[in-house]
Amino acid sequence: MENCIFCKIIKGEIPSNKVFENKKIVAFYDINPKAKVHILIIPKIHIESIKDLEEKDKSLIGELILATQRIAREKNLGGYKIVVNVGREGGQIVNHLHVHLLSGDVVLGV
Ligand code: AMP
Repeated sequence: MENCIFCKIIKGEIPSNKVFENKKIVAFYDINPKAKVHILIIPKIHIESIKDLEEKDKSLIGELILATQRIAREKNLGGYKIVVNVGREGGQIVNHLHVHLLSGDVVLGV
């Protein structure tokens, strides 16, 4: 998607501090961390939000969660919170589906 900041990160047009990448998923540190560790895990295809998921995206969502678990393991996180904001009223600012992985000094909202 042309004006999507996360699509630009995927294409390398905007720099990011990547922690994981495979064919379908990218993960990078949040630019404005809300916890000691704050990583965003995103699909490479542009899906705006949970609202836009379709039956065909079922396995991608599973992979997104498993990638999140894998990153948490690799970072030796003892515990963590995962958050997905959905739509403006749900606190979503960037309209490209993303999972927040937060650990350490985690506050309730993101
Ligand atoms: P949300 O409110 O769920 O849409 O969260 C969007 C997140 O993206 C926020 O936590 C921002 O700090 C983060 N963010 C925005 N731009 C960038 C960027 N260029 N690199 C890394 N994280 C970003």
